Amino acid sequence: MAPAQKATAQRITPRAKDFSEWYGDVIAQAQLADYSPVRGCMVIRPHGYRIWELMQRALDDMFRASGHRNAYFPLFIPMSFLAKEAEHVEGFAKEVALVTHTRLRATGKEGTAAIEVDPSSALEEPLVVRPTSETIIYAMFAKWIQSYRDLPLKLNQWANVVRWELRTRLFLRTTEFLWQEGHTAHVDEPDAESEARLILEIYRDFAETWMAMPVITGVKTESEKFAGALRTYAIEALMQDNKALQAGTSHNLGQNFAKAFNVQYQTAAGGLAYVWNTSWGVSTRLIGGLIMTHSDDNGLVAPPKLAPVQVAIVPIWKTDEEKNQVSAIGYRVKEDLEKVGMRVEFDLRDNLKPGAKYFEWEALGVPVRLEIGPRDLASGQAVLARRSGGKGPVSLNEVTKHVHRALEEIQAALFNAAKERREQNSIRGVTKAQFLEFMKGSGGFAYGGFCGDPGCEAEIKAQTNATIRVLPDPEFRSKDAPRNCMWCGAPSVAEAVWAQAY
Ligand SMILES: [Zn+2]
Repeated sequence: MAPAQKATAQRITPRAKDFSEWYGDVIAQAQLADYSPVRGCMVIRPHGYRIWELMQRALDDMFRASGHRNAYFPLFIPMSFLAKEAEHVEGFAKEVALVTHTRLRATGKEGTAAIEVDPSSALEEPLVVRPTSETIIYAMFAKWIQSYRDLPLKLNQWANVVRWELRTRLFLRTTEFLWQEGHTAHVDEPDAESEARLILEIYRDFAETWMAMPVITGVKTESEKFAGALRTYAIEALMQDNKALQAGTSHNLGQNFAKAFNVQYQTAAGGLAYVWNTSWGVSTRLIGGLIMTHSDDNGLVAPPKLAPVQVAIVPIWKTDEEKNQVSAIGYRVKEDLEKVGMRVEFDLRDNLKPGAKYFEWEALGVPVRLEIGPRDLASGQAVLARRSGGKGPVSLNEVTKHVHRALEEIQAALFNAAKERREQNSIRGVTKAQFLEFMKGSGGFAYGGFCGDPGCEAEIKAQTNATIRVLPDPEFRSKDAPRNCMWCGAPSVAEAVWAQAY
């Protein structure tokens, strides 16, 4: 990428002062995204889009390796399709964009009045801009699936979707966002269930291995599940302001959509049966999660595996002769690092002092900076500085090895630090009094008993703004299962994890 044109004075609001301001400042300084002339929509800038491309590549490999294939379905969905699954339409009705006309016409007037909607171009049936694609994909599945031999059918699409939003927050809540949505069909419930679980595990692996973002997994309650699903599974991460971020969801849709769209197949025994569906997705919201998990008051901290630039080489010189020397070495180092697949920038700009360059690469989240000056050259060294702190000399002869090791260590350290922070901000076995104090105070993940009553859940949300993020999987549950609902005292049916969330 091209580095910023000029050095910018530090304009990042500290996290402790205002987390939300800080988040916006980090995005602006790292040139990740910007607000667009269209309210509610964002422009993803090259540095941010590169992170998305790297995420896409990693996830796509994982989907492919587990037997999924990519396809592409239309942006427009006939409005009547949405009406076919009752819960689904109710879930999305309040946030859809509609296409009702197909033409404009000139009026001969001036300014904004120069064009108007051509009333004769009204569509017989309005089209919905997809908020998600279950309906149109399962309409096609009905055509493609005839026999049990056609199953399982496992597709994924990379696409944009539109859900009308009034409150915008870059990457976290925008009217249009980018995502992948997987859609599968299976012969029976166990097969659909294992698919939903398989994807949840892929999401977890991606979040932890690539994003260095630890997550807890589990199932959503009835009131938090996807509109039209039988069960929704999710990965949930805790951000630095102790709010939870739902980072990915995987739904076992049961036969709800199969029945609505008549997706039937001939069974091995010769009968007819409805398929079982799953759908699952992660979006550009993950970039928001990455930012809020790792970044600091100096700007973006990108985990090495997803950093658009992993190494910035900054040469230091005074005279032209020194510039020639450090340039020659800089180019060689860049080439060596690129040979082993690293993403490297060599910052030869002569209108900026090295200090200003350090500052910029820091704000951009570059994990490793190599400083090469005449004195370092004389001793056959460079200085390796880590974005997450610490610097020291490394031998130029073994620079690839040192950088490689540094990147691996940084990736691991970011994960460990995030996990430690999450554990420090989790409390288990809460009572109602503790819960209220916790949610009024610093917040975080609160583990406690839950009676299963949606009424209880609604009351908690109304009073504390906390929701059940998941009923956690066994691995994340407390050693002693809670006996009573932490809120109402009725017998507990499951342990729950509450948090205030994005
Ligand atoms: Zn209760």
